[in-house]
Amino acid sequence: MLITEERRLYLRKWEKEHRKMTPQRKQAMKIRSRRCYELHRKTILERHKVYAQVHSEQFKEYAHGYYLEHRDSICERQKTYEATHREQVNAEQKARYHVPIEGTCELCGSQRNLERHHPNYGAPLAVEIVCHSCHRKIHDS
Ligand SMILES: [Zn+2]
Ligand SMILES: [Zn+2]
Repeated sequence: MLITEERRLYLRKWEKEHRKMTPQRKQAMKIRSRRCYELHRKTILERHKVYAQVHSEQFKEYAHGYYLEHRDSICERQKTYEATHREQVNAEQKARYHVPIEGTCELCGSQRNLERHHPNYGAPLAVEIVCHSCHRKIHDS
């Protein structure tokens, strides 16, 4: 998140005071601020939105600066993502064309919401037929 000069000063001051506090006081403050947050969440979120709007130019600049600074790693990450993703998309397309969805879920025997699952995208035609919920479980685990 973008930190303006004003906010930086505020944070520094706050940090100084925070350091002087006893652990009990810190704990009490934590609880209070959490309670305050829960009570006023809507107002706080609204205020954040307004803050972002007011400082939108700075936000943009910041995002752009971030992009410039990290351009190489961003590009790199995107490339690897695309490469792995491309394999997945290709495999799914091939399987859709060659492997019909029929029968029952290989895991629970359900006949509804069947989908193809690729244990290995490098082998596009080696798919398992599973139902949607089993498929979710496979990918969650
Ligand atoms: Zn899958
Ligand atoms: Zn199933």
